[in-house]
Amino acid sequence: MFIVPQECQLFHFPLSFFNKKRIFDGHNGTAAAVFSRDHLLNHVLGAIPCGLGRDEWLHALPRALVAGFVKTDKEFQSKGQTSGTTATFVIVDRWTVTVASVGDSRCILDTQGGAVSELTVDHRLEENAEERERVTASGGEVGRLSIFGGTEIGPLRCWPGGLCLSRSIGDMDVGEFIVPIPFVKQVKLSAVGGRLIIASDGVWDAISSDMAAKSCRGLPAELAARQVVKEALRTRGLKDDTTCIVVDIIPPDNTVQPATPPKKYNKLRSLFFRRKSHKSAAKLSKKLSAVGIVEELFEEGSAILAERLGSEDSNGPSMSGLFICAVCQVDLAASEGISVHAGSIFSTSSKPWQGPFLCADCCNKKDAMEGKRPSGVKVT
Ligand SMILES: [Zn+2]
Repeated sequence: MFIVPQECQLFHFPLSFFNKKRIFDGHNGTAAAVFSRDHLLNHVLGAIPCGLGRDEWLHALPRALVAGFVKTDKEFQSKGQTSGTTATFVIVDRWTVTVASVGDSRCILDTQGGAVSELTVDHRLEENAEERERVTASGGEVGRLSIFGGTEIGPLRCWPGGLCLSRSIGDMDVGEFIVPIPFVKQVKLSAVGGRLIIASDGVWDAISSDMAAKSCRGLPAELAARQVVKEALRTRGLKDDTTCIVVDIIPPDNTVQPATPPKKYNKLRSLFFRRKSHKSAAKLSKKLSAVGIVEELFEEGSAILAERLGSEDSNGPSMSGLFICAVCQVDLAASEGISVHAGSIFSTSSKPWQGPFLCADCCNKKDAMEGKRPSGVKVT
């Protein structure tokens, strides 16, 4: 696998009010990772209506992330290149953290209370039964690599193509049921803040989320990121795919990271973390919410576009006088728009003439992602 060079991965945009980090871990070449780095942000921002207040903007973000990911994938595939990439995109606005991801570059949250939770899910066929079912139902075949003599080796992959991931950007040589629709989670931290650790799969193959968080507590962000990679290398000894970004979200009057010496911290750590936690991220999040440390604002991982774009008709003609494609944002004549709910068995309560609307091209893509037409076959 290829990772976009370090200097390109870290972005710190002074864009109005938010802060953003992202990791793209490419495979079969770097083209998809580079393309996503260059276009994903603009495609997400382009899907957010203009003139929103801060809270409305944050509210619109999860849907815009879905549109931006799909548009980026569609544009990249239209270039005819075959590479693919994971994408983990983190937007921090004050205490609100929004994470969108496809693939297996994980983002975890470590709060001052000591609880570690995962803000992404791993889209790996080996570990994600739900995704295996979806891919199979959409016409993909899931199985292991078969070597001479019929022995099966390695993780579960999707065929054709042999990709281990169930979601990615790019990858036009695998079926279109390998979708770019991201898992999105939005949480609000308490005023004590927290630490985000975003890393590619090489880190998570070597160490658990808990281990990563614990290994770098007390260190400033930059050193912490290096420490996590070091810990992963120490455990597994491999050097590929081990990229890590650490973001500290700390109160503004406390801009210097608390300089707790690691030694002192060890005592605290042994108090907090003696019991080895096997709880799922969901359970941990619940626990966090219960003690008021982290408030869950939004979580959705469905691969069905109609479910992700919702039934609000904010892009309908009542707002702007024009229809706009909810994915690629092109203007549509009234006769051109196809409801995202048209012909969908997943949204029986919605009316097929309601928005959001898609252009013919995006509708085509939607059908392909849901396995309604053979991958790569264009309906004209
Ligand atoms: Zn479109």
